[in-house]
Amino acid sequence: MINIDIITCLPEILNGPLSQSIVKRAQEKKLINIEIHNLRDFSNDKHKKVDDYSFGGGGGMILKIEPIYKCIKKIKGSRTIDEIIYMSPDGKKLDQKGANKLSMLKNIIIICGHYNGIDERVRENIITSEISIGDYVLTGGELPAAVLIDSVSRLIPGVISNESAALFDSFQDNLLGHPNYTRPESFNGWKVPEILLSGNQKKIDEWRIENSYKKTKKLRPDLL
Ligand code: SAM
Repeated sequence: MINIDIITCLPEILNGPLSQSIVKRAQEKKLINIEIHNLRDFSNDKHKKVDDYSFGGGGGMILKIEPIYKCIKKIKGSRTIDEIIYMSPDGKKLDQKGANKLSMLKNIIIICGHYNGIDERVRENIITSEISIGDYVLTGGELPAAVLIDSVSRLIPGVISNESAALFDSFQDNLLGHPNYTRPESFNGWKVPEILLSGNQKKIDEWRIENSYKKTKKLRPDLL
């Protein structure tokens, strides 16, 4: 079981992605426990404000350090945290290796930034890693957090019913995934490769590895 605590000032954004499909089933099976903490509940401000102007001027509001600190202190009161992650466009780019590593941890906190980011002192003193989901800027860290949690969830033993499917995903073993087909065997005259219908599992596995390799060589030679 992995505990994931998410700190956000817009919890509603997370409801959709975390309540469907594999992530939903992982929670139902008690393989993942996700707790969403509304940053506003930790604000001292009577209007529940969690942001303020940037010292030195310039556009954009900054998430304040106090509510984040208070929220993390509360979470730490109930478990020993392995990793405190800040979702950030300038963090380390998320890849399959990173997702594999995180899936082996027990307690993770994810901080979602918003507006023009968070007070730098959170990054300097509180977090243990920063993760980006790509070189582009989104409005908040909630969708990146959902992406991270989805990628980690499917790697936790028992979450995917056919676990071998996750092993054949792209980027495991530095190869892209092999092509897949389903019924009908022929559509518009476009046929499924005969070998996949042969019932010869050894030959099918060989075909899959060979095609994973060919695809990687063509599309992502840098992985080889
Ligand atoms: N001013 C910040 C900068 O230039 O790095 C961008 C702030 S962004 C509008 C607001 C928040 O969205 C960030 O604090 C971060 O939590 C999240 N975010 C945006 N893009 C992201 C990405 N590619 N990966 C991870 N988090 C991202």
